[in-house]
Amino acid sequence: MMSTAIFPGSFDPITNGHLKTLERASKLFDKIYFVVLTNTQKKYLFDQSERVTLAKVCLRYLDNVEVVSRTASLTVDVAHELKADFILRGLRNEQDFSYERAIAALNKTQDPTLETVFMLADPTESYISSSMIKEIAIFGGNLKELVPQEVAQALQQKLLD
Ligand code: ADP
Repeated sequence: MMSTAIFPGSFDPITNGHLKTLERASKLFDKIYFVVLTNTQKKYLFDQSERVTLAKVCLRYLDNVEVVSRTASLTVDVAHELKADFILRGLRNEQDFSYERAIAALNKTQDPTLETVFMLADPTESYISSSMIKEIAIFGGNLKELVPQEVAQALQQKLLD
């Protein structure tokens, strides 16, 4: 049977941390849907279509990863719609663990058959966050090791607007 996972998130913007996690996970699942969602708790620098476009450009090289866009949906509903049995999430640290454990438990109340699978970030990526990257970009810092080139350019462009 084909194993299908969704990797849901805001991805504002996609970082080397997300990419590295996906690269590793793409060997574990037959198919991964990279789902760009709107998290109602967050304010975004890039709008939905910009986040989707950046993800598509950066993920071209992964054959079994497909970028999809879903605004205002429950993660479990997206998984059902895409016929996925797994939700993939990344863990960088203890804060991620507490947050992700709560989300996973709540998702279980919606569908107990849907498994959340966690991938530990590699040490080199574990300090990368979209919010820190925006901070570095605002002050003109070096983004080379943190995001793909296309994202660095988009950040610079955005901050000129
Ligand atoms: P959300 O708004 O859903 O938290 P994010 O874009 O911040 O969306 O994160 C999406 C997923 O990617 C989350 O599971 C998060 O823990 C994970 N993630 C974020 N940064 C990294 C990183 N540097 N390495 C590995 N996983 C990461």
